[in-house]
Amino acid sequence: MRTKRFLKTQAIAASLLAPFAAPVLAQDLSVDTLIKGGTVYDGSEGRPFIGDVAIGGDKIVFVGPAGKTRFNAKKTIDAKGMIVSPGFIDGHSHSEHFLDNPNAQQRQAPAYLTQGVSTVIIGVDGGGLPELKDQFAKYEQQGVGINMASYVGYGTIRKRVIGNDARAPTANELATEKELVVKGMCEGALGLSTGLFYAPQSFAKTDEIVDLAKEAAKRGGIYDTHQRDESSYSIGIIASTKEVLQIGREANIPVHFSHIKALGKDVWGKSAEVIKLIDDAKAAGQNVTANHYPWTASQTYLESALVPRWVIDGGYAAMIKRFDDPALMPRIKTEMADNLRRRNGPHSILFTVQGRPWTGKYLDEVAKEWKIDPIDAAIRILRQTQNEFIVSFNMSQHDVDNFMRQPWAVTSSDGVPGHPREWATFSIKYADYVKKRHVITLGFFIRHSTGLAADMYMLDRRGYLKTGYYADVLVFDPNNYAPKADFVHTDLPSTGVLDLLVNGALAIDNGKMTDVLSGRPLLHAPSAGTCL
Ligand SMILES: [Zn+2]
Repeated sequence: MRTKRFLKTQAIAASLLAPFAAPVLAQDLSVDTLIKGGTVYDGSEGRPFIGDVAIGGDKIVFVGPAGKTRFNAKKTIDAKGMIVSPGFIDGHSHSEHFLDNPNAQQRQAPAYLTQGVSTVIIGVDGGGLPELKDQFAKYEQQGVGINMASYVGYGTIRKRVIGNDARAPTANELATEKELVVKGMCEGALGLSTGLFYAPQSFAKTDEIVDLAKEAAKRGGIYDTHQRDESSYSIGIIASTKEVLQIGREANIPVHFSHIKALGKDVWGKSAEVIKLIDDAKAAGQNVTANHYPWTASQTYLESALVPRWVIDGGYAAMIKRFDDPALMPRIKTEMADNLRRRNGPHSILFTVQGRPWTGKYLDEVAKEWKIDPIDAAIRILRQTQNEFIVSFNMSQHDVDNFMRQPWAVTSSDGVPGHPREWATFSIKYADYVKKRHVITLGFFIRHSTGLAADMYMLDRRGYLKTGYYADVLVFDPNNYAPKADFVHTDLPSTGVLDLLVNGALAIDNGKMTDVLSGRPLLHAPSAGTCL
């Protein structure tokens, strides 16, 4: 794509042909792109400096104080007054719908690029495929705009081997599940992801997960989890946190909490207790980390939020069948009402999927319109839709701030269509939490969105502005970097990203998206001798 060596050759040729040219010409460093005079945050804990960053091919070839080195650059970006940092890394993304898209513009993953994100972690919540090579080969062949790394997902595996039933695997089934974890790990997965909150993954007992996590551990992987309970649904957030730590200890694997939060009124304020459990485990030598998103509203499926798990046993059709059984309805409704209370009542559930009669309305508004009880309204919607996404306002600002400040928590979007976090997570974290509310500093924000994340996800030569590292480089305007998406218009691009290079190519050039598809699959190398 780029003629990396052209300018170097040209510079040498010019100096040979013109012996009376300024002698400094031969010493100029020939590069493809020079980002000049910006405020450089290199992804480490070091202090920012006014500096130059130069790129040749897909690598960073120079990072240093401004003006000390002379360059012969094919393209120069004047970054005076701008922030220059590594491209952001999204620790928990559902960007597959962009990456798999038949439309090349969609495959650029505009939601991510326009926030400054150059790398996403996918296959989360137990959703990753064991056939990673095929998936990544397709991305490489069709071209995508961002880099991605993936987990192998427990949910995919359990559904294939056991289906939707609420039971433990037989010995044979467990062996098959293990084989699929091994397959994923040996095809380059970062580790094993689970979403134990969701049926049918919720039907797994701890020992089954430990057995599978051991296979990921042997191959140098990590355990990433949307834990069993972030609230008071089943075992409660404290017991659930302990379960994650137990899985880490017993499988001898680093554990990573996905979108760590305290969800629902019953557990508001519990962030302190969760943080203490994690800090104690770390002090005892365990490797524990997390990602989090800067929103007090989550997003999930209507059935996951409100319907008890025993009602979902067997899948959607089985749920509808139970709705049709008048003998069961009183208990179902009572338990659904309790789940709704837990989530802050009917005015905390917002429908954002486009094109429905209830789009843009809260559950209480829909119920009022239909002149029925909110639970009956929810059941009516459940009967008409499967996996209806909802936005659920259920977190306390105090807990969100508290998790964000932890030295072991990196940024993630958990982005899905219908919640502004897909288009505006990194920009809102900067605009609201750094600039407006001063919850964290700019340096903390960048470190926890770049280098620290690259370390946690074991991404080879990513996340830092260092010579020899891949050129994922972001230039943004500290005065204009801000979200535009909100809960009404969830898919508006953020403002203020001026330039974003992905593997050395400009995906955003002077504030505008190019049509470059320079993202790459990032494969984890399994421990030597574990994949024969
Ligand atoms: Zn999740």
